Amino acid sequence: MQSDILKIENLSFSYHNLNGETKAIKDLSFHVREGEFLAIVGPSGCGKSTILSLIAGLLKPVEGGITFYGKDGKQPGIGYMLQHDHLFEWRTIWQNVTLGLEIQHKLTAENKKKVEKMLADYGLSAFEDKKPSELSGGMKQRAALIRTMALEPEILLLDEPFSALDYQTRLTVSADIARIIRKAGKTVILITHDLSEAVSFADRVLILSKRPASVKAEFPIHLTLPDDSLLAARKAPEYSGYFNRIWEELSDESN
Ligand code: ADP
Ligand code: MG
Repeated sequence: MQSDILKIENLSFSYHNLNGETKAIKDLSFHVREGEFLAIVGPSGCGKSTILSLIAGLLKPVEGGITFYGKDGKQPGIGYMLQHDHLFEWRTIWQNVTLGLEIQHKLTAENKKKVEKMLADYGLSAFEDKKPSELSGGMKQRAALIRTMALEPEILLLDEPFSALDYQTRLTVSADIARIIRKAGKTVILITHDLSEAVSFADRVLILSKRPASVKAEFPIHLTLPDDSLLAARKAPEYSGYFNRIWEELSDESN
């Protein structure tokens, strides 16, 4: 049994603007274990992105709390990757993937080596000097991932990271990236509206209620995988059972 790295307790959050208050999250509680791959699904607009922004510290809870249990009592490093890759067109791929390190004054010889190794592992070495527009959607997504991973976060927050890709690309790129992240042993929170991604990649799937978000249901996932490819997870005997149960919970919530 691994220990918790993150615990959210009775969290509530509202947005305030000229039109008044929007309650985005209400009495939300869940925990994440170290090294766990957690997928979160929920109706559109229910507050999923807001949860990640709260975890990343970009927003402050109105009520309740988020507790981190990092190594040596330190706050764990958090990497946040969004739907659109946000690579900068005026910088080369190398300059893009090292941007975070550069900003944090950590572009040491050792870190440059690590980034070079990731570029090689992810099949991007030959594209170091190219501009983002010269790469395919999947390659750009891998470059964005390298930029996030270069800072060696302990917790990775992924907000619908594959939704900008076309279906065919998405199938392979998402499985590819999920495999890379799993191998790196990171704790992951993946927000996705693709139930097959959630069931194929995650150790546990949380289903959120409609806005304001709270946890509606939770499914630990255990698949008997025919091989180590996550694409093959769709062929696991347990796959369709999970898919259907999550689908039912979600449609129940969306109606
Ligand atoms: P999701 O990611 O699940 O689609 P969000 O967390 O982005 O949902 O948003 C939850 C709710 O909060 C939505 O109704 C959205 O319109 C509202 N919201 C999001 N950001 C803001 C903001 N900056 N100001 C006011 N309302 C917002
Ligand atoms: Mg969102």
